[in-house]
Amino acid sequence: MAKAPSRPKILIVGAGPCGLTAALELARRGYHPRIIDKAPGPTPLSKAVGINPRSLEILEPTGVTDRLMAQGIRMQGVQARYEGRLLAEIQISRLPHRFNFMLALPQSETETVMEDVLVSLGVRPEWNVELTDIRLAGGKVEAELRGAHGGTFDYVYGADGAHSRVREVLNLGFSGYTHKRLWSIADATIPDWPYPEATAMANLHGNGDMGFIIPIGPKRFRAVANTSDALSQLPGVESAQVSQSDTFHIPVRQADSYQTGGVFLGGDAAHVHSPIGARGMNLGIEDAFVFVRRLAEGTLDGYTSERHPVGRRWILLSERLLAGVQLSNPLLIPLRNLALSTLAHLTAVQQPMMARVAGLRE
Ligand SMILES: Cc1cc2nc3c(=O)[nH]c(=O)nc-3n(C[C@H](O)[C@H](O)[C@H](O)COP(=O)(O)OP(=O)(O)OC[C@H]3O[C@@H](n4cnc5c(N)ncnc54)[C@H](O)[C@@H]3O)c2cc1C
Repeated sequence: MAKAPSRPKILIVGAGPCGLTAALELARRGYHPRIIDKAPGPTPLSKAVGINPRSLEILEPTGVTDRLMAQGIRMQGVQARYEGRLLAEIQISRLPHRFNFMLALPQSETETVMEDVLVSLGVRPEWNVELTDIRLAGGKVEAELRGAHGGTFDYVYGADGAHSRVREVLNLGFSGYTHKRLWSIADATIPDWPYPEATAMANLHGNGDMGFIIPIGPKRFRAVANTSDALSQLPGVESAQVSQSDTFHIPVRQADSYQTGGVFLGGDAAHVHSPIGARGMNLGIEDAFVFVRRLAEGTLDGYTSERHPVGRRWILLSERLLAGVQLSNPLLIPLRNLALSTLAHLTAVQQPMMARVAGLRE
């Protein structure tokens, strides 16, 4: 009887959305990777709340998408306001795609669904297991772990987030900068929400302050602002019960290369940028999908040359969007506002931008 070809030994470091996607895709195609995470379980935090159409497409064959859609809110539009006055409403529902919405769901719930499905496919994440070191030797990758036995692997996928140990031990550069401005984030219940349901809203001010709010559940919202109090930037919101809040500075960085030897990087380990445009978690889901597709095709050499430019282009666009929403030059603000109002009426101009946020076009 012919012997079945042996499958490569694969270690995924990090069971966030990027690592879980890699594990799900591998499991679906008949591989049996190990996936480890130093945390005790899926994140308890809401973190990224927008799942775009391309991610929904990628996660569909495993059954994850159906389960996410049963739990999330189908966000149909985004309102842009200036000092509370409506400038434009971008209709995501006009996207010519079967997923013509952004799915709003806290990352804690997304990760829990992904883990459940992964376990049903026969791969169980090893929680409380930390990667401490990596050595490249004889075309293989030796991984040292704390909390479980390490070993020798054909490939290691570093999906271990912005402070990636994989990236660090391999001395891969992470060039960029961190914005000085302090941002804040809050999740809150707002019983008297005065705007349309299933619609996100950005409110811009003449002094460059801005706030952004996204529905994440019945009367539950995520607010983000470039000031210290995320909820203070929203017009007409009288009472809000805050459940989680934090402040942060926006890092803008990208790994110089996404691979060395048999080790590959994806997700925040490879790129970090502003939350404007909600592509952060989604780019990592795409990276993981491409890693597995290339592994199966035997074309992993081209991983960096495919994914690095995609990350670079999004970083440049998200920096331009960030500058646009934070304008404080009184000569430029009327032009920006006019451009926004015009955009809302020109489907031909709106579509390419929506397609990029949706992950359907680069
Ligand atoms: C408060 C907050 C709010 C955010 N809001 C948004 C948002 O609105 N929109 C958006 O797009 N993005 C947002 N993000 C960013 C988003 O959460 C990330 O882009 C996304 O989580 C990246 O996924 P990932 O799988 O690449 O990395 P992560 O989710 O960071 O997962 C990395 C995993 O690796 C594990 N790990 C790290 N080191 C090791 C090691 N040595 N060994 C083993 N395991 C290890 C960690 O425990 C973690 O579980 C937010 C982040 C935070 C913190």
